[in-house]
Amino acid sequence: MNVFVLNCGSSSVKFQIINTDLEMFETDSDHRVAKGLIERVGKDDAIISFEADGQSPVKAIEPIHDHREAILRIKKWMEDPATKIDGIHSWDDIHAIGHRVVHGGERFTKSVKIDKDVLAQIEECSDLAPLHNPANLKGIYACYEIFGDRIPQVAIFDTAFHSTMAAESYMYAIPVEYYEKYRVRRYGFHGTSHRYLAYRYRKLAGKPREEVNIITLHLGNGCSAAAIKKGYSVNTSMGLTPLEGLIMGTRSGDIDPAVVEYLFNKGIGSVADIFNILNKKSGMLGVSGLSNDMRDIEKAASQGNRQAELALKMFALRVKKYIGAYLAEMNGADAIIFSAGIGENSALVRKMVCQGLENLGIELDEELNRQAVGGKCLKISKADSQIAVWVIPTNEELLLARDTVRVVRDVPRNW
Ligand code: ADP
Repeated sequence: MNVFVLNCGSSSVKFQIINTDLEMFETDSDHRVAKGLIERVGKDDAIISFEADGQSPVKAIEPIHDHREAILRIKKWMEDPATKIDGIHSWDDIHAIGHRVVHGGERFTKSVKIDKDVLAQIEECSDLAPLHNPANLKGIYACYEIFGDRIPQVAIFDTAFHSTMAAESYMYAIPVEYYEKYRVRRYGFHGTSHRYLAYRYRKLAGKPREEVNIITLHLGNGCSAAAIKKGYSVNTSMGLTPLEGLIMGTRSGDIDPAVVEYLFNKGIGSVADIFNILNKKSGMLGVSGLSNDMRDIEKAASQGNRQAELALKMFALRVKKYIGAYLAEMNGADAIIFSAGIGENSALVRKMVCQGLENLGIELDEELNRQAVGGKCLKISKADSQIAVWVIPTNEELLLARDTVRVVRDVPRNW
C-alpha cells in the first residue's frame, strides 16, 4: 500500500509517502518514496520543500493560505510529470492517509479509522490540546474536502502508547473531582516515538516484547522520557499537556505551580501570558538567553558563556532525575535509549547525562558515544555496562504508516 502520512502543525504541513504492507513489516522492507514540508502555512511566503526518493529536492516560496491549499500543492507536485515518485503518478495511487493527532484523551488508546463519530471525539479532545489538535483536524478536514470518502483516513494518537499507565502514575494529587469532571490527569505525548524506539530495541536486542524493560529518551525540540516495562509504557514525563517533565527548547518542564501565581502577583501579565512564557520563552532559550537550539548552546558554552553552561547542566540533570526515578519505579532496566535531534546528535549531552551514573550500572564508551551522530544507530555503552545505552534514530512516520495499514486491513496490533 502507498500510505500518505500527514503531520499538520498550526503553520506547517509535513508529509511522507511510504510504501508498506503487513508482509513488509517483519523484513523491514517498507520504503519511503517521498517526503516534504511546507512551513509558514497561512503566509504569502510559505516555504516549500519536496523530495521524491532519488530525485533532487524541489524548493520554492509561494503563497499558501491554509492547510487545504498546502495539501492541494502537494497533490499538484505529486501529479506533475516532472516529479518521479516510485509507483505514484496521481492520487489514485495513494491507498490510505495516516494523520498524526496529538491528543486522544482517554477515548483513544489505539489508532482508528476516521469517521464522523471519531472526528467529533477528536474535536472534544481539542480542549485538552488547544495548541495542537485544531491543526491536526485542519489536515483531516482538508483531506475529506479534497478526496471525500474515496481514501480511508486513519488517526494515530501521540497519547495512545501511554494509555497503559496505571492510575498511580497518571493521577495528579489534586481533588479527585477534577479528574472525574474534567479528566485532569497525565496523558503523556511522543507516544509514537517511544513505541517505535521500544519496537526497534526489541528487534536489535532480539528479545520478545515481555523482556523489553527500557527507558526511552526523546530529546528534540520537545523532550520526554518514558519508562517501558514488559513492552508497555508505565510512566512518562509529559502530563496533561507537553509542558511537564524534562527541560525543552522553549518549555520549562517541571516547575512549582506556585510560580504562576507569584509571577501573576508581580504583574507579569495574565495567566495566559505566564503560560506563554512557560511554553515559548523558557527552557533552554529562557535559561541561556540565547537560543532554543542545543547546537547554539553547546557552542556558546564551549566559548565560556556561563548561562549556556548552566542551561546545559540543568538539562542533563533533569534527564538524570527521570532516569533515576524510572530505574526505581521499574526496579532496574536493561537499556537506556537516546533519540530525536539532541539524543541522536549530541555526544556532549549524552555524556553529561550518563556521567556519574556508574553506581547505577550505566557506563558510556566515550569513543562509541562520539561516533553516534548523524542518524547512526549504535550501542554506546561499555561492553560490561550493566545497563546498555543505545542511540536509536526515531522514525515516527514509519509507525504512522504501519498503523494506517493495520487499521485499513483490520489487523489488530499485538503491541
Ligand atoms: P522535533 O522535536 O521538532 O521533531 P528534532 O527531533 O528534529 O525536533 O530536534 C531538533 C533539535 O535537535 C534542535 O532544535 C537542536 O536543539 C537539536 N539538534 C539537532 N542537531 C544537533 C546537533 N548536531 N547537536 C546538538 N543538538 C542538535
